[in-house]
Amino acid sequence: MNERNANRVGQVKEVTSLANPLIKDIKSLSLKKFRDQQNAFIAEGLKLVIDALDLGWTIKTLIFSKSGLGNPAVEKTAARTVAAGATVLEVSEKVLSAITRRDNPQMVVGVFSQRLLPIKSVRPQGEDVWIGLDRVRDPGNLGTIIRTADAVGAKGIILIGDTTDPYSLETVRATMGSIFAVPIARVSVEAFLEWRKGFDGLVAGTHLKGAVDYRSVKFGGRPTLLLMGNEQQGLPDELAGSCDGLLRIPQAGRADSLNLAVATGVMLFEIRRDALALSGEA
Ligand code: SAM
Repeated sequence: MNERNANRVGQVKEVTSLANPLIKDIKSLSLKKFRDQQNAFIAEGLKLVIDALDLGWTIKTLIFSKSGLGNPAVEKTAARTVAAGATVLEVSEKVLSAITRRDNPQMVVGVFSQRLLPIKSVRPQGEDVWIGLDRVRDPGNLGTIIRTADAVGAKGIILIGDTTDPYSLETVRATMGSIFAVPIARVSVEAFLEWRKGFDGLVAGTHLKGAVDYRSVKFGGRPTLLLMGNEQQGLPDELAGSCDGLLRIPQAGRADSLNLAVATGVMLFEIRRDALALSGEA
């Protein structure tokens, strides 16, 4: 069986101690400092790990609990990991709980190399939709936006300024696997404004004081960059000033604003609806 093959080449290590240096390194990935040092992050769940491998992501370590022994999908994934030259660890549930900081951890966890796009390789074309996020702070919001971007077929996300880490456990969890499907670039405000000069599509900002109702805009026929503001402060003037227009989602009731991820979802599906209507597919 695959697992035995993996063992034969000496790549499957059995680990039960939390003091094991390999486990310490993996546990440290809950902190951004060590994620950056190791250029790595953790993804939980067999399906996610298989999807990531299918999409060509580089696995560094596969960790599975003893309960995964004899599971053909786990063993196949272990064999793929060994074939990729990476390490496979068979661990106790206690170790998996410590790595994932969960009482009931998934049976399988993968450690993958981070993959951020250089901004110069972001070249939207056709009707591509990209999302710019100004200083997004909340990991749940970022994960939900990545997941929604995937669901709507957006091409990627540009993180602008000091944002929460897309590779934190919380963000990756909230993406439900879409972290592997949506390209992400990360830039300073200055680098974004420089890039924006060379982008000739529509830059649609969103703002509570936006002059334009988001439903009145024609999105199709060109690339769109949807620009969303920080949760507390909204878009700062320098980013708002770089937009072709500032759009508002009219609200009823007493709420001041929509949650960032909800507002992004509303905008993305409107952009998609409009583009499909223009191409006659709707
Ligand atoms: N207090 C902040 C402000 O004054 O802008 C609220 C920010 S809101 C929670 C986060 C972001 O979601 C906003 O910057 C904007 O991009 C978007 N947003 C939320 N509600 C919106 C609405 N009704 N119209 C347009 N954009 C909205």
